[in-house]
Amino acid sequence: TTDTLSPAPTTAQSEALFARARAVTPGGVNSPVRAFRSVGGSPRFIREAHGAYLTDADGTRLLDYIGSWGPMILGHDHPAVREAVTSALAGGTSFGAPGEREVRLAEAVTRITGVDRVRFVNSGTEATMSALRLARGATGRKYILKFRGNYHGHADGLLVEAGSGLMTNAGGALGQAAPSSAGVPEEYARLTLVSEYNDPAALDALMQERGVDIAAVIFEPVVGNAGVLIPTPEFLAALHRVREHGALLIADEVMTGFRLSLRGATGLLGLRPDLICWGKIIGGGLPVGAYGGRADVMDHVSPQGPVYQAGTLSGNPLAMAAGLATLEVLEGDPGLYGRLDTYTAQLADGLRAAAREAGVPLSVNRIGSMLTAFHQEAPDGAIRSYADAARSDTAAFAAWFQQMLARGIYWAPSQFESIFVGAAHGDAELEQTLAAARAAYAGLGG
Ligand code: PLP
Repeated sequence: TTDTLSPAPTTAQSEALFARARAVTPGGVNSPVRAFRSVGGSPRFIREAHGAYLTDADGTRLLDYIGSWGPMILGHDHPAVREAVTSALAGGTSFGAPGEREVRLAEAVTRITGVDRVRFVNSGTEATMSALRLARGATGRKYILKFRGNYHGHADGLLVEAGSGLMTNAGGALGQAAPSSAGVPEEYARLTLVSEYNDPAALDALMQERGVDIAAVIFEPVVGNAGVLIPTPEFLAALHRVREHGALLIADEVMTGFRLSLRGATGLLGLRPDLICWGKIIGGGLPVGAYGGRADVMDHVSPQGPVYQAGTLSGNPLAMAAGLATLEVLEGDPGLYGRLDTYTAQLADGLRAAAREAGVPLSVNRIGSMLTAFHQEAPDGAIRSYADAARSDTAAFAAWFQQMLARGIYWAPSQFESIFVGAAHGDAELEQTLAAARAAYAGLGG
């Protein structure tokens, strides 16, 4: 296949918008990784998106591997989602009172995932923050435990060793760690203990030492936020043992929920968490998060119980409509997850082959439609922790990213992120991507 690099497309409009944005918004963006800081250059401003493609402000079409960081599993502007949102729109945008769509989405989520009760919020951050408050309220304990390099949104107590966007390396004795952000008081961070992902012995030891004080252990069942890290069976077994200490197990499926299977990572890996957090796909591209679990735990939430949690726009009719339509399409197409898996497996194989041919060290972690190609020598599958991921050559990644972008492939602009394949990615997209990747790796090879 021939190299798809044509005369460099103009980025004048994106650059002009970025200059205006920087004058009125910190760093010119509303979420940090969008600013391209770790790959250099200025971000593309997106005008519209359909199927697997974005169109930027200069009219350049880009093949999208971010999918809005996960939600767009059906592709952009899916007809069923558009139709559902448009029809909801005609009935008003927010009621501040309950409506049928919330009931229907809650019925779908409980039926699909097996939780008894679910509460809708407006983002993944709200979901994890609320689930932790619930765990503390239900257990009467103060401490939580998380894993290095796992990201659970930007609530104060969770911005500790929090992965891709933050990249700190503070560590300490007995699972104690420093905040990953200015503005998080040490006193808050002190209530968050940190252990190593995929290290069952470290988790067991920490639970032995501190287990009686721990309200909840929260984890990404497959990590997307240090790049993709896949849990070992031994680690998953250790996670389930935390219950022996009276701690609740919280699976953060904000990224993996309805993505790795209809029942998320929980279904795929056979997990039995006490609480599950969702975001992204559950809102079909509109702002939705959710948390759910057994009735005896969830019924601590207000107004049923004493743990307060509320939201002016929670259960928003447009957002519920988008989520419902998305879940209906996913449920109605049993072959969809298999197709995503096949595409992404072929993508992984193609990247490995192209890198090998060009003499570029590459180690690919891939599960379902999530993939990270780490620029380092490690054998495939050997990258299992934040520390492993951090050994990647980020300069080589950045150079490769820019080569891909110049060829119209919009990869995640950080070495420590997953890419997301969606249902609109087909044979033509795979071929285009691998042709670009061969040229991009050749450009790095020596
Ligand atoms: N949890 C996980 C695993 C995530 O990947 C993210 C976001 O990427 C969040 C929580 C936070 O979700 P949101 O950005 O919707 O607040």
